Amino acid sequence: FLLAYDPAKRLGNLNVQLQRELVGVKRAFNLIDHGKLEVSEGTGQLVANAGALEFQDVSFSYKAGVPTISNVSFSVTPGERIAIVGRSGAGKSTIINLIMGMYHPSHGSILIDGTDISTVTLQSLRDSVSYVAQDTFLFSGSIRENVAFGQASATEEDILAALEAAQALDFVLKLPHGLETDVGNNGANLSGGQRQRISIARAFLKNAPILLLDEATSALDGDTEKQLQAALEKLSANKTTITVAHRLSTILSAKKVIVVEAGRIVAVGTHETLQRESDVYRSLFAAHEIV
Ligand code: ATP
Repeated sequence: FLLAYDPAKRLGNLNVQLQRELVGVKRAFNLIDHGKLEVSEGTGQLVANAGALEFQDVSFSYKAGVPTISNVSFSVTPGERIAIVGRSGAGKSTIINLIMGMYHPSHGSILIDGTDISTVTLQSLRDSVSYVAQDTFLFSGSIRENVAFGQASATEEDILAALEAAQALDFVLKLPHGLETDVGNNGANLSGGQRQRISIARAFLKNAPILLLDEATSALDGDTEKQLQAALEKLSANKTTITVAHRLSTILSAKKVIVVEAGRIVAVGTHETLQRESDVYRSLFAAHEIV
Protein backbone atom coordinates (compact mmCIF):
# COMPACT_ATOMS: atom_id res chain seq x y z
CA PHE A 1 0.00 0.00 0.00
CA LEU A 2 1.08 3.59 -0.49
CA LEU A 3 2.07 5.45 2.64
CA ALA A 4 2.20 8.92 1.20
CA TYR A 5 -0.32 10.76 -0.91
CA ASP A 6 -0.56 14.37 0.16
CA PRO A 7 2.36 16.68 0.98
CA ALA A 8 1.75 16.66 4.74
CA LYS A 9 1.75 12.89 4.79
CA ARG A 10 4.83 12.86 2.62
CA LEU A 11 6.63 15.00 5.16
CA GLY A 12 5.39 12.81 8.00
CA ASN A 13 6.58 9.79 6.15
CA LEU A 14 9.92 11.40 5.47
CA ASN A 15 10.26 12.03 9.17
CA VAL A 16 9.69 8.36 9.87
CA GLN A 17 12.33 7.55 7.29
CA LEU A 18 14.70 10.01 8.90
CA GLN A 19 14.26 8.34 12.22
CA ARG A 20 14.97 4.96 10.72
CA GLU A 21 18.05 5.93 8.86
CA LEU A 22 19.36 9.09 7.27
CA VAL A 23 19.57 7.55 3.90
CA GLY A 24 19.11 9.32 0.62
CA VAL A 25 17.59 12.26 2.42
CA LYS A 26 18.64 14.82 -0.11
CA ARG A 27 17.18 12.72 -2.89
CA ALA A 28 14.00 12.31 -0.89
CA PHE A 29 13.75 16.08 -0.53
CA ASN A 30 14.17 16.45 -4.26
CA LEU A 31 11.35 14.02 -4.74
CA ILE A 32 9.14 15.90 -2.34
CA ASP A 33 9.87 19.08 -4.25
CA HIS A 34 8.73 17.35 -7.38
CA GLY A 35 5.75 15.79 -5.65
CA LYS A 36 6.81 12.28 -6.49
CA LEU A 37 7.69 10.58 -3.21
CA GLU A 38 5.62 7.47 -2.92
CA VAL A 39 7.00 4.88 -0.62
CA SER A 40 5.13 1.65 -0.47
CA GLU A 41 6.13 -1.26 1.67
CA GLY A 42 5.18 -4.83 2.38
CA THR A 43 4.32 -6.37 5.71
CA GLY A 44 6.88 -9.20 5.82
CA GLN A 45 9.97 -9.13 8.00
CA LEU A 46 13.21 -9.47 6.10
CA VAL A 47 15.63 -11.72 7.93
CA ALA A 48 18.93 -11.27 6.15
CA ASN A 49 21.69 -13.39 7.55
CA ALA A 50 23.94 -14.31 4.69
CA GLY A 51 23.34 -11.20 2.58
CA ALA A 52 22.88 -12.65 -0.91
CA LEU A 53 21.53 -10.07 -3.37
CA GLU A 54 19.90 -10.71 -6.71
CA PHE A 55 18.43 -8.47 -9.40
CA GLN A 56 16.05 -10.42 -11.65
CA ASP A 57 15.26 -8.58 -14.88
CA VAL A 58 14.69 -5.26 -13.11
CA SER A 59 13.31 -2.26 -14.98
CA PHE A 60 12.39 1.08 -13.48
CA SER A 61 11.25 4.53 -14.67
CA TYR A 62 11.04 7.73 -12.68
CA LYS A 63 8.71 9.02 -15.38
CA ALA A 64 6.27 6.84 -17.29
CA GLY A 65 7.60 6.09 -20.74
CA VAL A 66 11.18 7.15 -19.91
CA PRO A 67 13.03 4.01 -18.79
CA THR A 68 15.88 4.68 -16.36
CA ILE A 69 16.85 1.05 -15.66
CA SER A 70 16.11 -1.66 -18.20
CA ASN A 71 16.26 -5.44 -17.72
CA VAL A 72 19.03 -5.41 -15.15
CA SER A 73 20.02 -8.84 -13.81
CA PHE A 74 22.98 -9.67 -11.61
CA SER A 75 23.69 -11.51 -8.41
CA VAL A 76 26.10 -11.07 -5.56
CA THR A 77 26.91 -14.00 -3.30
CA PRO A 78 27.23 -13.52 0.48
CA GLY A 79 30.39 -11.63 1.39
CA GLU A 80 31.26 -10.88 -2.23
CA ARG A 81 32.40 -7.46 -3.36
CA ILE A 82 31.22 -5.94 -6.64
CA ALA A 83 31.70 -2.54 -8.25
CA ILE A 84 29.24 -0.66 -10.44
CA VAL A 85 30.72 1.81 -12.92
CA GLY A 86 29.26 4.02 -15.62
CA ARG A 87 29.00 7.56 -16.85
CA SER A 88 27.14 10.23 -14.94
CA GLY A 89 23.43 9.60 -15.42
CA ALA A 90 23.90 5.95 -16.42
CA GLY A 91 21.71 4.76 -13.53
CA LYS A 92 24.19 3.72 -10.81
CA SER A 93 22.50 5.63 -7.97
CA THR A 94 19.12 4.41 -9.13
CA ILE A 95 20.28 0.81 -8.65
CA ILE A 96 21.38 1.72 -5.10
CA ASN A 97 18.06 3.52 -4.42
CA LEU A 98 16.14 0.44 -5.56
CA ILE A 99 18.11 -1.78 -3.16
CA MET A 100 17.24 0.59 -0.32
CA GLY A 101 13.56 0.34 -1.19
CA MET A 102 13.20 4.01 -2.07
CA TYR A 103 11.37 2.86 -5.19
CA HIS A 104 10.07 -0.43 -6.46
CA PRO A 105 10.93 -1.89 -9.84
CA SER A 106 8.22 -1.46 -12.47
CA HIS A 107 9.20 -4.91 -13.69
CA GLY A 108 11.25 -7.75 -12.20
CA SER A 109 12.35 -8.32 -8.61
CA ILE A 110 15.15 -7.65 -6.19
CA LEU A 111 15.83 -10.50 -3.76
CA ILE A 112 17.81 -10.47 -0.53
CA ASP A 113 18.54 -13.96 0.77
CA GLY A 114 15.77 -15.16 -1.54
CA THR A 115 13.08 -12.75 -0.30
CA ASP A 116 11.55 -10.18 -2.68
CA ILE A 117 12.27 -6.87 -0.93
CA SER A 118 8.99 -5.34 -2.13
CA THR A 119 7.18 -7.73 0.23
CA VAL A 120 8.92 -6.62 3.43
CA THR A 121 8.73 -3.58 5.71
CA LEU A 122 11.14 -0.72 4.99
CA GLN A 123 12.36 -0.97 8.56
CA SER A 124 13.39 -4.60 8.19
CA LEU A 125 14.96 -3.87 4.80
CA ARG A 126 16.99 -0.97 6.17
CA ASP A 127 18.09 -3.02 9.15
CA SER A 128 19.75 -5.36 6.64
CA VAL A 129 21.45 -2.74 4.49
CA SER A 130 24.00 -0.05 5.44
CA TYR A 131 24.66 2.87 3.14
CA VAL A 132 27.76 5.05 3.25
CA ALA A 133 27.50 7.97 0.84
CA GLN A 134 30.04 10.36 -0.61
CA ASP A 135 28.07 13.33 0.69
CA THR A 136 27.43 11.98 4.15
CA PHE A 137 24.38 13.30 5.88
CA LEU A 138 24.89 14.07 9.55
CA PHE A 139 22.24 15.80 11.60
CA SER A 140 22.82 18.53 14.14
CA GLY A 141 23.56 16.71 17.38
CA SER A 142 26.44 15.08 19.19
CA ILE A 143 28.86 12.60 17.70
CA ARG A 144 27.36 10.04 20.05
CA GLU A 145 23.86 10.64 18.64
CA ASN A 146 25.10 10.55 15.07
CA VAL A 147 26.89 7.23 15.51
CA ALA A 148 24.17 5.55 17.59
CA PHE A 149 21.43 6.76 15.28
CA GLY A 150 18.74 4.09 14.94
CA GLN A 151 20.50 1.78 17.41
CA ALA A 152 18.78 2.66 20.66
CA SER A 153 20.37 -0.21 22.56
CA ALA A 154 23.97 0.76 21.74
CA THR A 155 26.18 1.10 24.81
CA GLU A 156 29.03 3.57 25.31
CA GLU A 157 31.43 0.70 24.73
CA ASP A 158 29.74 -0.21 21.43
CA ILE A 159 29.96 3.40 20.23
CA LEU A 160 33.64 3.75 21.14
CA ALA A 161 34.43 0.43 19.45
CA ALA A 162 32.61 1.53 16.28
CA LEU A 163 34.53 4.83 16.25
CA GLU A 164 37.79 3.00 16.72
CA ALA A 165 37.01 0.57 13.90
CA ALA A 166 36.21 3.55 11.68
CA GLN A 167 39.57 5.13 12.56
CA ALA A 168 37.66 8.04 14.09
CA LEU A 169 38.31 7.54 17.80
CA ASP A 170 41.59 9.48 17.89
CA PHE A 171 40.16 12.65 16.42
CA VAL A 172 36.94 12.38 18.43
CA LEU A 173 38.79 12.08 21.74
CA LYS A 174 40.84 15.16 20.85
CA LEU A 175 37.72 17.29 20.37
CA PRO A 176 36.88 19.59 23.32
CA HIS A 177 33.77 17.65 24.27
CA GLY A 178 34.70 14.22 22.95
CA LEU A 179 31.65 12.12 22.15
CA GLU A 180 29.34 14.94 23.20
CA THR A 181 30.80 17.38 20.64
CA ASP A 182 28.08 18.92 18.48
CA VAL A 183 28.82 18.13 14.84
CA GLY A 184 27.03 21.32 13.76
CA ASN A 185 24.34 21.72 11.17
CA ASN A 186 24.85 18.95 8.62
CA GLY A 187 28.20 18.18 10.25
CA ALA A 188 29.62 21.63 9.45
CA ASN A 189 32.02 21.54 12.43
CA LEU A 190 33.81 18.51 10.99
CA SER A 191 35.97 18.04 7.91
CA GLY A 192 34.70 15.98 4.98
CA GLY A 193 36.93 13.05 5.94
CA GLN A 194 35.77 13.22 9.57
CA ARG A 195 32.11 13.25 8.52
CA GLN A 196 32.67 10.19 6.38
CA ARG A 197 34.37 8.34 9.21
CA ILE A 198 31.44 9.14 11.54
CA SER A 199 29.12 7.64 8.95
CA ILE A 200 31.40 4.59 8.67
CA ALA A 201 31.27 4.25 12.46
CA ARG A 202 27.47 4.26 12.22
CA ALA A 203 27.66 1.41 9.70
CA PHE A 204 30.08 -0.53 11.95
CA LEU A 205 27.66 -0.22 14.83
CA LYS A 206 24.74 -1.35 12.69
CA ASN A 207 26.71 -4.29 11.30
CA ALA A 208 24.19 -5.09 8.51
CA PRO A 209 25.16 -7.93 6.14
CA ILE A 210 24.81 -5.80 2.99
CA LEU A 211 26.88 -2.67 2.49
CA LEU A 212 26.25 -0.04 -0.20
CA LEU A 213 29.08 2.41 -0.83
CA ASP A 214 28.91 5.50 -2.98
CA GLU A 215 32.46 6.51 -3.75
CA ALA A 216 33.47 10.13 -4.32
CA THR A 217 35.11 11.00 -7.62
CA SER A 218 37.71 13.21 -5.98
CA ALA A 219 40.02 11.75 -3.36
CA LEU A 220 40.60 13.48 -0.02
CA ASP A 221 44.17 14.50 0.78
CA GLY A 222 46.82 11.83 1.40
CA ASP A 223 46.57 10.62 5.01
CA THR A 224 42.86 11.27 5.32
CA GLU A 225 42.22 9.28 2.18
CA LYS A 226 44.36 6.40 3.43
CA GLN A 227 42.51 6.29 6.75
CA LEU A 228 39.19 6.39 4.96
CA GLN A 229 40.14 3.56 2.62
CA ALA A 230 41.45 1.47 5.52
CA ALA A 231 38.21 1.99 7.46
CA LEU A 232 36.07 1.05 4.44
CA GLU A 233 38.20 -1.99 3.76
CA LYS A 234 37.66 -3.22 7.29
CA LEU A 235 33.95 -2.39 7.24
CA SER A 236 33.39 -4.38 4.07
CA ALA A 237 35.20 -7.49 5.32
CA ASN A 238 32.75 -10.43 5.25
CA LYS A 239 29.94 -8.19 4.04
CA THR A 240 28.23 -8.29 0.68
CA THR A 241 29.46 -4.98 -0.74
CA ILE A 242 28.18 -3.04 -3.72
CA THR A 243 30.27 0.04 -4.48
CA VAL A 244 29.46 2.73 -7.00
CA ALA A 245 33.12 3.04 -7.87
CA HIS A 246 35.27 5.80 -9.30
CA ARG A 247 38.72 4.62 -8.17
CA LEU A 248 40.73 2.04 -10.01
CA SER A 249 41.96 0.70 -6.65
CA THR A 250 38.36 -0.08 -5.64
CA ILE A 251 37.68 -1.76 -8.96
CA LEU A 252 40.79 -3.92 -8.62
CA SER A 253 39.63 -5.16 -5.22
CA ALA A 254 36.16 -6.13 -6.52
CA LYS A 255 35.31 -9.68 -7.53
CA LYS A 256 33.45 -8.37 -10.56
CA VAL A 257 32.67 -5.05 -12.16
CA ILE A 258 29.31 -4.21 -13.67
CA VAL A 259 29.35 -1.62 -16.43
CA VAL A 260 26.13 0.37 -16.79
CA GLU A 261 25.25 2.52 -19.78
CA ALA A 262 21.88 4.21 -20.32
CA GLY A 263 20.26 2.02 -17.65
CA ARG A 264 21.47 -1.29 -19.02
CA ILE A 265 24.29 -3.60 -18.04
CA VAL A 266 26.55 -3.59 -21.08
CA ALA A 267 29.46 -5.61 -19.69
CA VAL A 268 30.51 -7.59 -16.62
CA GLY A 269 34.01 -8.74 -15.78
CA THR A 270 37.27 -7.89 -14.10
CA HIS A 271 39.32 -4.81 -14.91
CA GLU A 272 41.56 -6.87 -17.19
CA THR A 273 38.78 -8.50 -19.20
CA LEU A 274 36.78 -5.28 -19.44
CA GLN A 275 39.77 -3.35 -20.64
CA ARG A 276 40.20 -5.82 -23.42
CA GLU A 277 36.55 -6.25 -24.33
CA SER A 278 34.46 -3.20 -23.41
CA ASP A 279 34.59 0.08 -25.29
CA VAL A 280 32.26 1.64 -22.74
CA TYR A 281 34.57 0.59 -19.89
CA ARG A 282 37.63 1.99 -21.64
CA SER A 283 35.83 5.26 -22.32
CA LEU A 284 35.24 5.78 -18.57
CA PHE A 285 38.95 6.39 -18.06
CA ALA A 286 39.08 8.96 -20.85
CA ALA A 287 36.04 10.70 -19.32
CA HIS A 288 37.67 10.67 -15.84
CA GLU A 289 34.72 8.70 -14.45
CA ILE A 290 37.38 6.28 -13.20
CA VAL A 291 40.57 7.79 -11.80
P1 ATP B 1 25.94 10.08 -11.25
O1 ATP B 1 27.22 9.33 -11.44
O2 ATP B 1 25.98 11.44 -11.88
O3 ATP B 1 25.47 10.11 -9.83
P2 ATP B 1 24.17 7.88 -11.93
O4 ATP B 1 24.79 6.91 -12.84
O5 ATP B 1 24.14 7.56 -10.49
O6 ATP B 1 24.82 9.32 -12.13
P3 ATP B 1 21.31 8.17 -11.68
O7 ATP B 1 21.40 9.20 -10.59
O8 ATP B 1 20.90 6.82 -11.29
O9 ATP B 1 22.69 8.11 -12.47
O10 ATP B 1 20.35 8.75 -12.79
C1 ATP B 1 19.92 7.99 -13.92
C2 ATP B 1 18.95 8.82 -14.74
O11 ATP B 1 17.76 9.03 -14.01
C3 ATP B 1 19.48 10.20 -15.12
O12 ATP B 1 19.03 10.47 -16.42
C4 ATP B 1 18.82 11.11 -14.12
O13 ATP B 1 18.63 12.39 -14.66
C5 ATP B 1 17.50 10.42 -13.87
N1 ATP B 1 17.00 10.65 -12.50
C6 ATP B 1 17.70 10.44 -11.36
N2 ATP B 1 16.94 10.70 -10.27
C7 ATP B 1 15.73 11.10 -10.74
C8 ATP B 1 14.50 11.51 -10.13
N3 ATP B 1 14.37 11.55 -8.80
N4 ATP B 1 13.47 11.85 -10.94
C9 ATP B 1 13.58 11.79 -12.27
N5 ATP B 1 14.71 11.41 -12.92
C10 ATP B 1 15.77 11.06 -12.17
